[in-house]
Amino acid sequence: MAETKENIVMFPFMAQGHIIPFLGLALELEKKTGYTITFVNIPQNIKKIQPLIPPTSAIRLLEIPFDPSAHGLPPNFETTESLPPLLMLRLFITSPSLQPAFRKVISDLVHEHGQPPLCIISDMFFGWSVKVAHEFSAFHTIFNVGGGNAMALFHSIWLNLPHKKTKSEEFPIPGFPEDWLESDGMLFNTIEEIDHVGLEYFRQQIGCPVWPIGPILSSLGSKARAGDEAESTLNHCMKWLDSKPEKSVLYVAFGSQMQPSPSQTIELATALEASGRNFIWVIRPPKNSATNNGNGNGWLPSGFEQRIHGRGLLLEWAPQLEILSHKSTGAFLSHSGWNSVVESLINGLPVLALPMMGDQHFIAKMLEEETEVCIGLASGSSEAKYKEILETIEVVMGETIKGKDMKTKACEIKYLLGEAKKDNKIFKGASTKAMDEFLSAVLSNVIKSQNGGRMFSSGGEFGFDFHSLMKLIRGDQSSSVLGM
Ligand code: UDP
Repeated sequence: MAETKENIVMFPFMAQGHIIPFLGLALELEKKTGYTITFVNIPQNIKKIQPLIPPTSAIRLLEIPFDPSAHGLPPNFETTESLPPLLMLRLFITSPSLQPAFRKVISDLVHEHGQPPLCIISDMFFGWSVKVAHEFSAFHTIFNVGGGNAMALFHSIWLNLPHKKTKSEEFPIPGFPEDWLESDGMLFNTIEEIDHVGLEYFRQQIGCPVWPIGPILSSLGSKARAGDEAESTLNHCMKWLDSKPEKSVLYVAFGSQMQPSPSQTIELATALEASGRNFIWVIRPPKNSATNNGNGNGWLPSGFEQRIHGRGLLLEWAPQLEILSHKSTGAFLSHSGWNSVVESLINGLPVLALPMMGDQHFIAKMLEEETEVCIGLASGSSEAKYKEILETIEVVMGETIKGKDMKTKACEIKYLLGEAKKDNKIFKGASTKAMDEFLSAVLSNVIKSQNGGRMFSSGGEFGFDFHSLMKLIRGDQSSSVLGM
């Protein structure tokens, strides 16, 4: 695919749970529009992302300079997965310091292409990038990689904190999320049917367009960390799953950056062993484990691996999307990170939720109480005991009425997610339409800028689909198309 002058800049936060869906969206946008997609990140991550880009894609990778040590972060910092919670907080606080370097990246692009990018799609943690986008008259949108409802709750809590008027130790972090209010729109990796309340919240509170364009999925996730071993791990997992009966395997994973505490790990291991069920468990050393001495899986119960041999597979990083879409997988025990939830639901799989931080608690609550595809295992900072975990594994993996209901609901959502992305001559799904509307708004902004702030000399603003607007910008400025 050749590089075009029309350029969309994408800038995800330094976390796998953000980079993976951003890459998924980048590939979708490139395929749909043929524009150049410029993917910006810190040098350490750009090196890792380079081999993930398929040969058919011309996604351009651009480094933004970042010295982790200058911000009290480990010198080899790449993404949040290596950071303890306190340093994660430091990373959020560091976010606005990237602004001058980001401005320089955009300014260089403007010089190179002779025009500003059509649009800057930034992470929700880089809300400040809206100022840079508007300085160059580029359209700005936030791609929210969390669900609509959970993000709405976050936003509301955040905005109301100052009203507590206490001597609280809470302090505002510049750039999040006040700057969201100035953005030209918001993209969400969701659909209206599962996140309506949250999406409506943003429409009302921020008053900008909100486009649910989900599900955005990326099989690049399996390679994001496994690197050269990704292929052999995938083959091994598929072979292992092929040997198991349909819907008999519980997949257990907690995303890219969380691991249960040492005591929670023991409870979980005890329950998985007692269940007698097949399982794949993505297990990395608990972050604060005293037994993490690099000497085998010292944080697991003694003899665990021998006892579960043949029915339990332990991995450090899994080809998650491929495992979830295998017919032998029956349910997902997850931290309920949003990408994991979407990946589970697109495969019609119910969720056992063990949320650990941030939006994961909100997501688990919504999935349990509203969507009814989930059982929550622990709330707040409490840990789930092995008996409770064992019972819920039985509910969801066994032949129970509740388990069946959850699976039916999950399959209903799978259907809705599939419909939303349909794009053929007779039917366009809601997410396809939302993506078209987003691109029309981006291109309308370009025409407005070229036309002294006006879209047309007369007539309405959004009367054209993005294909007509694209032709317009590429030079077919016939008056009939312009409506003049
Ligand atoms: N992931 C993966 N293999 C793993 C763990 C995670 O491919 O072993 C991918 C997963 O498919 C998802 C992302 O990493 O796309 C994790 O995002 P999520 O929002 O679920 O959690 P986070 O890492 O942000 O907490």
